[in-house]
Amino acid sequence: MKRLIRRFLLYYNLFLWERALWKDENQWRELIVERRYDLGNGVYLIMAPWPRGHLAAFNLSFDDVFPYTSSLHNHGEDILTGWLNQEFERMLLDFPWLKVTLFVCPNMSSENSRPNHYLITRPKYRDWVAWLRRLVGSGRVEVADHGYTHLNTVVGPKPSPAEFANLSVREIQAALEQAKEIFASIGITVVGVRPPAWGVGKDLAIVKAVKDSGFLYGALSAVGHGLNAGMKRVSDVFPAWYEGLLNLPQNLTLEEPEPVAYRVIDRTVSMGGMIGLKAHYSTSLSIRAGLHPKNLQRLRRILAYIEKSYDDTVWPATLKEIAEFWTAREKLQVSTTRNGECMRVVLYNKTRWLLTDLHLQLEGGTIVDAAGILRATDEGWVCTISPGSSVEFTVIQGRR
Ligand SMILES: [Zn+2]
Repeated sequence: MKRLIRRFLLYYNLFLWERALWKDENQWRELIVERRYDLGNGVYLIMAPWPRGHLAAFNLSFDDVFPYTSSLHNHGEDILTGWLNQEFERMLLDFPWLKVTLFVCPNMSSENSRPNHYLITRPKYRDWVAWLRRLVGSGRVEVADHGYTHLNTVVGPKPSPAEFANLSVREIQAALEQAKEIFASIGITVVGVRPPAWGVGKDLAIVKAVKDSGFLYGALSAVGHGLNAGMKRVSDVFPAWYEGLLNLPQNLTLEEPEPVAYRVIDRTVSMGGMIGLKAHYSTSLSIRAGLHPKNLQRLRRILAYIEKSYDDTVWPATLKEIAEFWTAREKLQVSTTRNGECMRVVLYNKTRWLLTDLHLQLEGGTIVDAAGILRATDEGWVCTISPGSSVEFTVIQGRR
């Protein structure tokens, strides 16, 4: 009987979770995905939400990456002999298209650990840092920030892993800037933040703190957590701007049963959103969505499913690549000058982010002299615009 009740509760919670995930997402889609520019005289320029005609994006991320090993947890300290790191690298080999974001905590502390014991700049972690840098150098792995210590000792009566819970903008910003400096000192530039245990600060202070610390994006939400705790403030399916900060959602972990995972993947692709799959970089069975052998097999099956079903349609990307593309596209300046029946169109990327393979379509008009600037595809045109530069082409009304 007890087992039956537990089973029922599990399915009921999953039902509620999925309901929360899709809530209002059709409205988000309309608000967020469409980028239509009125060029005048009934001609519209339409920019696709993802590069090169991809229908959706996929990111795999791991939280809690730090050089820590105990009898219970291995977060990958023993990079040369450790099972976890070897499995991770094997996965990168077996899925050569895969891109990964690692959320690293640069000075992880637990209530029992000595201060600065796991500070990643300590000489004893030199090999670990070299491993991290080698991954970043491969171009397939992004390192992003996961707080500073992962520990909060000031808010409740007991220490909590939600480092930023109830902190002010100033306090969070100080921690983020310290973290950023540590990463810079080992030659790694971080542009994104995911807060430990979804602690978002007093009155969502994390948003301003992340923005004011000069980060490109925040990974501040999961279904019912972070920015979406209590109510849905940002989309769970699409990148979305919140108070001037770009938020990239997490919408799947290794905890959901596989049929649910496949359903979420299929529906996210059909809506044109991003699949944000997260796991914890830990072998421990007691950590939710950890990378113990059973979950690792599950992850491999999910990756194989995406590969088989959406080889050409889903864009595998780091969160940084997604944020770069969305920021540069969002802020792209479109200007036109008329010359008789022709229109000269200039697209200017005023950001410091690369706009890769922007996919363009025209409604009510045709592009005429784009050779060398735009590449033609079956459905439109593609161009890459570097930071601070522009592309120009001519449009005529109607079809030719
Ligand atoms: Zn964490």
